Amino acid sequence: MEDKIRVLLTEEEVNEKIKKIGEQVSKDYAGKSVHMICVLKGGVFFTCELAKRITVPVSLDFMSVSSYGSETKSSGIVKIIKDLDEPLEGKDVLIVEDIIDSGRTLSYLIEILKKRNPASIRLCTLLDKPERRVTDVKVDYVGFNIPDEFVVGYGLDYAQKYRNLPFIGVVEQ
Ligand code: 5GP
Repeated sequence: MEDKIRVLLTEEEVNEKIKKIGEQVSKDYAGKSVHMICVLKGGVFFTCELAKRITVPVSLDFMSVSSYGSETKSSGIVKIIKDLDEPLEGKDVLIVEDIIDSGRTLSYLIEILKKRNPASIRLCTLLDKPERRVTDVKVDYVGFNIPDEFVVGYGLDYAQKYRNLPFIGVVEQ
């Protein structure tokens, strides 16, 4: 049976926001390059769209960590499934996430990436659920603060489905 999906953020709203973040990132990194780290799989759509909107030189790398299975709640366990291909030494790193929920995934990532001596590390997320935070993470670029609902689309899945939706929706149970 098909799930019913309610639109939370339209394709136009998301695209407009990504354009604005791209402009801000381009200003903030003027005269430098951005080394974007896409957190797979959810961050991939946002990373690609954002990269296209950045006007300073961009390099890309990919990392996969797991903190959720196909369930809708955090397991609290974060493990590296795929590590980066390139060293971070001296690079201005921008971590790109789809969503920050408890903050566990990002605080873990930041700790391990800091040890690789980048020149700087900033965080960018398309979506944030601030009321769900259990660990303190400083986020530099946030697309939208959203309520505590399980969302899909734009890279976000429900049991591996709906990543390809061009908008952000809520699966109605
Ligand atoms: P955190 O470690 O901040 O609790 O969780 C971050 C990860 O949890 C995200 O990268 C994402 O994979 C998953 N996640 C958190 N909230 C949602 C949600 O509403 N929808 C989906 N599809 N994934 C979520």
